[in-house]
Amino acid sequence: MVQWLIGLAGSTGIAGIAYAKRSLSGSGFFAAVVLGTAMYALGSAVWFGSLITFFISSTLWSKWKKRAKERAESGYEKSGRRDAGQVFANGGLGLLLCAAHWAWPHPLWWYAFLGVMASVNADTWATEIGGLSRTPPRSIKTGRRVPPGTSGGVTGLGFGASLAGGLFIGAVAWALWLAVPGPSAPDAAAAPFRPAAWIGIAGLAGIIGSLADSWIGATWQQMYRCAECGREIEQARHCGKPAMRIRGRAGWNNDAVNVASSLAGGLSAALLALAFG
Ligand SMILES: [Zn+2]
Repeated sequence: MVQWLIGLAGSTGIAGIAYAKRSLSGSGFFAAVVLGTAMYALGSAVWFGSLITFFISSTLWSKWKKRAKERAESGYEKSGRRDAGQVFANGGLGLLLCAAHWAWPHPLWWYAFLGVMASVNADTWATEIGGLSRTPPRSIKTGRRVPPGTSGGVTGLGFGASLAGGLFIGAVAWALWLAVPGPSAPDAAAAPFRPAAWIGIAGLAGIIGSLADSWIGATWQQMYRCAECGREIEQARHCGKPAMRIRGRAGWNNDAVNVASSLAGGLSAALLALAFG
């Protein structure tokens, strides 16, 4: 019971600041509180901290040089305040893995979780930092130059940012594991690797998740063209009017792409643990 209350207090505080700073919508606030509280109560400070690290660092990067990114970002789906759909697209899979570890403790759940968190963090850092690249992105599929902000476009800067984003999650998880020992910490999860190795695993999973995101973005993600301004965009509406779908598979919106690519990162980390375990 105490764990639920601590989780609730911590989540409400952090999500409340994000709401006040206009990073979360009303539905996003409630989703973040549910996610954070459950993550603390079913997991530990290490699980909770990995989620919060992603949440805070990606919010800070999105505020950084906001003006310079705004032009490219007008083509992104749902830019600005994160709603419940986006919060669960980024953290819902992590919560499922945390709950699974609570119900059936096994190190593989932890590694999958670490990979998922590394992926979503790496991908967000790549988007926020890579968006400032001076050299235009190239399509991961065709290798041709594409306009900044295009789904599936990759830059050297974005690649470096995604590596840093993954490594950062691993480093924070390790630091928290050292700082907050406890029965519900992923103690069993130290096997088959030492917790220091989480840094490298998270770095690798982050790269794999980001590349998966770019690949799916370039192949299956739905793209629309705005009839008003002519931009190629990810959302079904632009300039206050419905836009025309020009490519992509039904159902593959931005949230679906995020879930699928973080699954790729989580699977790669779990497979690594399985291979060496
Ligand atoms: Zn438009």
